[in-house]
Amino acid sequence: MSTQATTASNGKAAGERTPDRLAATLAFDEPVSRVRLVSPMRASALAKLGVRTVRDLLTHFPRRYIDMSRIEDVAHAQIGEMVTIAGTVHEIKLKKPKPRFSLVEIALTDRSGVLMITCFRQPWLMDQVKKGDRLAVSGKLEFNYGFKRMTNPFIEEADDSFDERHGRIIAVHPATERISTAWMRRLVGNALSLCRGAFDPLPVDLRAKYRLPSRMSALSSIHFPVSMDEVAMARRRLVYEEVLMLELHLMMDETRRSAGKPVTAHATDGSHMRALEQNLPFTLTDEQASARDDILRAMAADQAANHMLLGDVGTGKTVVASFGLAAVADTGTQAAMMAPTEVLARQYAGKLGPLLDAAGITWEVLTGSTAPAEREAVIERVAGGTVDVLFGTHALLEDDVRFRNLTFVVIDEQQRFGVDQRAALLAKGEAPDALYMTATPIPRTLALALYGSLTLSYIKNRPLNSAGNTTKVYAKSERGRAYDAALAALAEGHQVYVVCPLVGKPHPNSEAERKAKRENDLESDEYEYAVISIEDESDIEDDAKAAIQEAAFLQEKTFSSYRVDLLHGKMSGAEKQEVMDRFRAGISQVLVATTVIEVGVDVPNATVMIIEDAERFGLSQLHQLRGRVGRGTEPGEVFLVSGSKAPSALERLAAMEKTEDGFELASYDLSLRREGDILGNRQHGASMLKLVNVVRDGKIIEAAHADARAMLAEDAALESDRYRAFGREVRLAFRGFDEVKGG
Ligand code: ADP
Ligand code: MG
Repeated sequence: MSTQATTASNGKAAGERTPDRLAATLAFDEPVSRVRLVSPMRASALAKLGVRTVRDLLTHFPRRYIDMSRIEDVAHAQIGEMVTIAGTVHEIKLKKPKPRFSLVEIALTDRSGVLMITCFRQPWLMDQVKKGDRLAVSGKLEFNYGFKRMTNPFIEEADDSFDERHGRIIAVHPATERISTAWMRRLVGNALSLCRGAFDPLPVDLRAKYRLPSRMSALSSIHFPVSMDEVAMARRRLVYEEVLMLELHLMMDETRRSAGKPVTAHATDGSHMRALEQNLPFTLTDEQASARDDILRAMAADQAANHMLLGDVGTGKTVVASFGLAAVADTGTQAAMMAPTEVLARQYAGKLGPLLDAAGITWEVLTGSTAPAEREAVIERVAGGTVDVLFGTHALLEDDVRFRNLTFVVIDEQQRFGVDQRAALLAKGEAPDALYMTATPIPRTLALALYGSLTLSYIKNRPLNSAGNTTKVYAKSERGRAYDAALAALAEGHQVYVVCPLVGKPHPNSEAERKAKRENDLESDEYEYAVISIEDESDIEDDAKAAIQEAAFLQEKTFSSYRVDLLHGKMSGAEKQEVMDRFRAGISQVLVATTVIEVGVDVPNATVMIIEDAERFGLSQLHQLRGRVGRGTEPGEVFLVSGSKAPSALERLAAMEKTEDGFELASYDLSLRREGDILGNRQHGASMLKLVNVVRDGKIIEAAHADARAMLAEDAALESDRYRAFGREVRLAFRGFDEVKGG
């Protein structure tokens, strides 16, 4: 086998039917240094990109493709189009207008003219590119100061062997300063050779069902495609595999967690439930009632429930959750309800407390500021089982908080907790039912992808008829119209929010941030944003400064006959509280704020909101913000002021004018991004999804979700002949996460 190993990994013909298929398969999970030309230095550069194993390198997918077969002349190439131009370097210069900010300028000539190329923050180009070099560059063609130009184009050496080395399509892999895209391609190619002939772990019937190419052929196509059709086919296979693995992992993880543990089938029609029903000061809306039924059904089942309740702020989720609490009281067990902030936790006590009291359900609150003596008493009562429901913050997670019999866990604003925190609360019971609540609109497909066996309920409408909002997008020059509307509202005794631009760091979801992230990207047509994000020394300070200036200006000029107050991130909690109290009481009429206007702020008399530099916010964030007005009987008016002229930015903002549906907006935002970006590394599953786009790939996600269920129903441990190979893949692919989680 050892002699064959060398031939097989080098030659196509030998590889297919030899025992090396096993070696090739095993190579997936060997260190990346096994790949030819991966020196220790390169291995450490790869590690910075999260690439440690051969598998990681093979799934280091290209982020774009460039069609190098369509090379155009500078003279004839269309301004505004994405084009590829080949030419000779006439001059290359390093310019450094700012200390932390470099700029390389290249003049490239072809037979027909000169192209000026500007590259931000790539000083190493000075070492790699010399006068006289032949380059092919790909990007959006601009025209400025008398020249055709490209900013941060994709740059490829174009020496004589250029046409032989590459097919028509070139994959561009995420690269680093120490490993160029060209090198990355080479290394990926070597990894493919190493694994040539590896087994396809995907059960053959699933492959046939969706007509998917084999794994190795998909990997080879996605990295070295001949056509974009080939990429699409490869992607379909790899996306399916990615989701199927994640789903299986999540579902098996859940099974493991509750394996052999007693699951409580809750009583859902006991006396506490009836008492709660009778004491409710209003009737549930149809949506609330059906969400309640979903939750109670899941709690009554003899499987650990994993239910998510989605609904905007104010849609009445808390009340719905209280029915679950009543079921717990009727069962004679205990519930915990955790909120991300002290304010919210106290709010439960304030709002739900009396309702629970009336229904004879006992409860306590525990937060970080609970006095030691009181904390001691609460902990003791909870451990002794004389408290049905414990509300609280992260303080619930402390080791000495123990329950006698915890069977139901509610996690409010669940996205604000990490995986570990959620798990820690669940671990305080044997196999408790879980209810997650969130006001962040998560499309169904993303929820499925991230939470395996999750069931969902949505509440779309607020129980109390609020008047709603109209939203308008204005250019900076039209800002006066927004002020006019604000003044009209003030004249009628209403109040106004002005949300200030974020100076330092744009929201990760925003145009600017995405641009900054992909500074090599071809569509980076507005590089001033990239500049903004480089200069962020201290975001909060700068945000505060901008807000202070804005407030002073508005007080002096625009709203001089009203009181303007200011809220920003540098203020202490007490200061913020004071400002909010003044605004709530109507002592101030205009509130200038950075985004600290948080979930839960409720001033029904505020009817106008002006958001400056709106293109810097994510749509979901804008939607959350605008939800602060139009909460009373008067309709709200929201003005999004934007200085951007970029069609993409304006199109995004226009979506805010068109729809009030937070879920639709979230989907729209998501379609522009990848999930890892949104969820950060809070959701360990999310970072597994390298290719999946939850909006575009919705069908594949649903299919993989159903297939994963069916597979586990047939073979819970994935140990049968049919599934063993894939089961092994799932375990290997998630090995890293389990180590991180310490499990
Ligand atoms: P959420 O947790 O979704 O933000 P809450 O549960 O705090 O919403 O409810 C918001 C407000 O609406 C609360 O004051 C609550 O008492 C009230 N509410 C909830 N459901 C109804 C209903 N069906 N009819 C009238 N008011 C309701
Ligand atoms: Mg709530």
